[in-house]
Amino acid sequence: MKFITTATISLCCLAVAPSAQALNFNFITTGMSSDATTALNLAASSWSSKLFDPVTINITVNMTNLNNARVIAGASSIDLWTSYTPLRDLLVSDAANEADNGIVSYLPTASQFSAFLPTGITKTGYLAATKANFKALGEMDLDNQFGINDGTINFNSGFAFDYDASNGITSGTMDFETVAAHEIGHILGFISVVDDIDYMLANNQSGAVTPYLLDLFRFGTSANPTTTADFSTMSRDLRPTVASYFDDLSTQAPFSTGAFTGDSYQASHWKETGSNLWGIMDPAIAYSQIAGISKYDLRAMDLIGYEVTAVPLPPAIWLFAGGLLAWTRFARRSLLNTH
Ligand SMILES: [Zn+2]
Repeated sequence: MKFITTATISLCCLAVAPSAQALNFNFITTGMSSDATTALNLAASSWSSKLFDPVTINITVNMTNLNNARVIAGASSIDLWTSYTPLRDLLVSDAANEADNGIVSYLPTASQFSAFLPTGITKTGYLAATKANFKALGEMDLDNQFGINDGTINFNSGFAFDYDASNGITSGTMDFETVAAHEIGHILGFISVVDDIDYMLANNQSGAVTPYLLDLFRFGTSANPTTTADFSTMSRDLRPTVASYFDDLSTQAPFSTGAFTGDSYQASHWKETGSNLWGIMDPAIAYSQIAGISKYDLRAMDLIGYEVTAVPLPPAIWLFAGGLLAWTRFARRSLLNTH
């Protein structure tokens, strides 16, 4: 729960409105050339020009040999869990100032929330988001509580990269800026628990899992919501192998279904099409390919708690009184593959 005080704008003196801010990135880099760092900052700008939450995201970035001919880069995020209701309510509260985000208020309550899950898999009752995502939702003091890092990106030095997309991408190389923007997207919160489930199934494990915010918008073809009532009550589909879609009643885009038991691409991505049809969060890119942030990427970020329209800095004190019952871990890595 978040309280916003609204009466703190001074009547004195200056008539200048509070200026809007953008998402700010702070990179801690190792092994990165100046060209690579320049391209990394351009990738960050591609998000900062579209997301306006006044917070700083700290990302550790390494250029290192991943010894994998198919993996261009990988990201791991710091993730936090809390009880379902306070995080659900925080998301609803955060979306309240964006007129086109009315659907968020229809997210299932704890008693309404259900999901299709494979045999042997259950829900913990918690809800997860990346630490960066929590920052965008207005949660304060996380760097003091959990350390400043919000996630880590490892670029595979085994690939040849082109660090300047402005003049096209040299044949046989990867567009570094596209890859970087993709990995940043995971750390911001484009993650699905379906990848954890997929891993468990592939290793004959059973147990309880914690869905991420993006999973609240994940439906299968067997339960396709068409009304706000459907959106509140229909089961989300968290089964790898099952065709599933991002759905907010007005936007629909297919997800990948799992690297091990699904369609061979991690479920924390749009569906692979071979042409980056859906956006920067497609699971694979080809040599020489340049991809940008799509309306689907942006809608997903919008609905998990980012501000996609510039708003004045709130004259506000943000508190979270729900009791953040959180602990940290590194998420299983999200990998960007070649076609
Ligand atoms: Zn990825």
